Amino acid sequence: MKIPIVENILSANERLADENRRMLAEKGVLVVNVMSSPGAGKTSLILRTIEALREQMRIGVIEGDVASRVDADTIEQLGVPVVQINTGGTCHLDANMIRGSLDQLPLDDLDLLLIENVGNLICPTDFALGEALKVMIPSVPEGDDKPYKYPAMFAAVDAIVVNKVDLLPYVEFDLEGFRKLVVGLNSNVEVFEVSCKTGEGIEAWTEWLASRPTRQHG
Ligand code: MG
Ligand code: ZN
Repeated sequence: MKIPIVENILSANERLADENRRMLAEKGVLVVNVMSSPGAGKTSLILRTIEALREQMRIGVIEGDVASRVDADTIEQLGVPVVQINTGGTCHLDANMIRGSLDQLPLDDLDLLLIENVGNLICPTDFALGEALKVMIPSVPEGDDKPYKYPAMFAAVDAIVVNKVDLLPYVEFDLEGFRKLVVGLNSNVEVFEVSCKTGEGIEAWTEWLASRPTRQHG
């Protein structure tokens, strides 16, 4: 029987995530788990978010990638503290990896911690990190059928930031139909439409983000 082993791993992760969540909430840090498929715009949205909010919030970033630190280097150029996690093949971050990174961040001097998960729409939803908010970024060129294919991801998140809306004239993407599908899976979700390239829609997203309480779940 393999199922109990998987359940034990997930419940051990859940306990660690709760510890992370409690500690970070006590320090007043709003923690956001940013998820998407590869190339949808996690790093771009993080960069735009830092630019928009850096005057009003002290921001730190944890970058999760299977390999390399190219995204972390890009973010570091903005002068915010960044920790790179290389998972070495694992397709998601987990609470233990986050725990290990927190020691390397100035938590007492942070208001917002953005965690870029590994690009993958499946298992990141199963591994809580200690976040207050889960955010997912679908991008217009990927098509509007993602909610059919990855319903668990769409059901689990607090916000959906549809990226690359500047490409809407060139691709098949029915925004109204997409919104209906998403709300059918998750009636509480906030949906934003942005272009990280042009900056369109970024303000609505960052205003919403900056007004969230540090403790949302649990
Ligand atoms: Mg990235
Ligand atoms: Zn995984």
